[in-house]
Amino acid sequence: MIRANSLVKRYGSLTAVDGLSIEIKEGETLGLLGPNGAGKSTTIGMLVGLIKPDAGEVSVGDQNEAPTIPEVRRQIGVAPQALSLYGELSAKENLVFFGGLYGLSGSELAERVNWGLDFAGLEDRKHDRISTFSGGMKRRMNIAVALIHEPKVLLLDEPTVGVDPQSRNHIFDRIESLQDQGMTILYTTHYMEEAQRLCDRVAIIDKGKLLALDRVDGLVDQYGGKPVVTATLDRDSRTDGLPGKIQDGRVRFESTDPIEEVNRLTQKGVKFANLQIANSDLESVFLELTGRSLRD
Ligand code: ADP
Repeated sequence: MIRANSLVKRYGSLTAVDGLSIEIKEGETLGLLGPNGAGKSTTIGMLVGLIKPDAGEVSVGDQNEAPTIPEVRRQIGVAPQALSLYGELSAKENLVFFGGLYGLSGSELAERVNWGLDFAGLEDRKHDRISTFSGGMKRRMNIAVALIHEPKVLLLDEPTVGVDPQSRNHIFDRIESLQDQGMTILYTTHYMEEAQRLCDRVAIIDKGKLLALDRVDGLVDQYGGKPVVTATLDRDSRTDGLPGKIQDGRVRFESTDPIEEVNRLTQKGVKFANLQIANSDLESVFLELTGRSLRD
């Protein structure tokens, strides 16, 4: 649906996006996961034709057209990180304004405005100014505005930053219903649990470069390492033959088959006071690929 080919964007001596190639397939939700400053927003800006790449190109749809062509651009809805709302206008007035920009009018516009208010869950606040809304309500409106003209692709730039848990759940539910309707979505985030929950495939980027791109389970298989066992030992436990280092009565080790390994150790006289087995996840993948945590 959207293809980026070897995109480069430099700001002075800083290369914000460094030869990035990526494709968002029709109907999929592609996660763009990377720490702050990785180049996610800059990539979105180039995908929608707002930022001109220094090298590389973007093409949209079956005809491989540039996103700078207005009719092509119209197929894409963007909810940018910096809110694109007018604080002095009400929720309804914002939707009317942005719908008008896309050429909607009359009953069609009225229908889309009602749809937007329902999408954001803000019918009962439709006459209130945006400036009186919480961070989460503003984010919900920001996404509704991005969808007012029924685009085929939705680009979401960190849609849950500064959002309360209730709004976050609302946003997740609404994204999932868009997915059910076949929407193509690019979802940028630096929260791995969001990528794990919402994305069909995840691209991991850092310092403007694509490090890996696959389904979450594929990434975890390839880069995530083994499941991790952490345990506290009983005082009278045997300790010989235990894998891993014992520190203050606690032990941590990796195993491809942790349950089998724990059974084997128990039979040899190791007594576990308590035990945790955690699967490897995207966080471990990220650590493995970049040497740092997503939240750094
Ligand atoms: P992310 O969205 O992943 O946090 P950005 O795309 O916003 O990352 O930024 C990537 C890098 O480019 C950062 O180091 C940022 O400071 C820099 N950058 C982004 N926009 C500009 C700009 N307009 N001028 C100069 N530097 C910029």
